[in-house]
Amino acid sequence: MRQIAIYGKGGIGKSTTTQNLTAALSTMDKRILQIGCDPKADSTRMLVGGKRQPTVLDTLREVGTENVTLEEVVHTGFGGIKCVEAGGPEPGVGCAGRGVITAINLLEELGAYTDDLDFVFYDVLGDVVCGGFAMPMREGKAREIYIVASGEMMALYAANNICKAIVRFAKQSGIRLGGIICNSRKVDNELELVTAFSERIGSRLVYFVPRDNIVQRAEINKKTVIEYAPESNQAGEYLQLAKNVIENDNFVIPSPLEYEELEELMMESGVLA
Ligand code: ADP
Ligand code: MG
Repeated sequence: MRQIAIYGKGGIGKSTTTQNLTAALSTMDKRILQIGCDPKADSTRMLVGGKRQPTVLDTLREVGTENVTLEEVVHTGFGGIKCVEAGGPEPGVGCAGRGVITAINLLEELGAYTDDLDFVFYDVLGDVVCGGFAMPMREGKAREIYIVASGEMMALYAANNICKAIVRFAKQSGIRLGGIICNSRKVDNELELVTAFSERIGSRLVYFVPRDNIVQRAEINKKTVIEYAPESNQAGEYLQLAKNVIENDNFVIPSPLEYEELEELMMESGVLA
């Protein structure tokens, strides 16, 4: 069982990419558990027909820790993918990251990590690497991290910060960076820039996912692109991403850049000209 966490700046496309990746993997007969670790609880929405599923925290609040069952928190979606949303506290109350810790502990207790699973994916909130959000990497729940980024400065800045967190936890938890996934924002020289960034931190660009409006069309139809338009170019891109993840054998402790180096890299690539 490969346990993989997806990190990246908020809004960069983690949930979109993760759902299409797991949907693609499911068409290759892989068995998957996907755990949404964002209080927004929208990580698995396109896998379950757009319906908002009760989160682990919602369910715990309703039925209590004693009575909760696995069936109440795990919802089977497209391709048999087992979908879980950790959820968050009531707005303004407590640390949002607590939900992640509670959810993972509960799933372990209830036996959600069955031996037949090929992959467990954690789709983790943004560039915040505080308490709960660092948990999948801090405690070695996930072994591999992929960072979703683009050629935008703030996306690379967040990616670089996530690398710093990986370095911090790598020794104790064994966590490694599997690579960068570029989710294109159509920035000038984006492929070159994100490739250069990936190499400078000692890693690799796993895949360049183009920006395509079919993602929005699929979203309006409450489906992943894999389900909505399996013959489309974009579905082909996600299938290739899935193959690259399956075949990836490059796992490193990254070497994050100094802020000035990051700026220089952007200058060199002509993005900050
Ligand atoms: P995150 O989970 O990182 O916060 P989302 O996956 O929710 O980000 O993505 C934000 C929005 O970006 C989505 O609503 C989706 O429509 C859009 N999006 C993501 N990836 C692509 C893409 N490759 N092409 C077009 N739109 C995309
Ligand atoms: Mg998300």
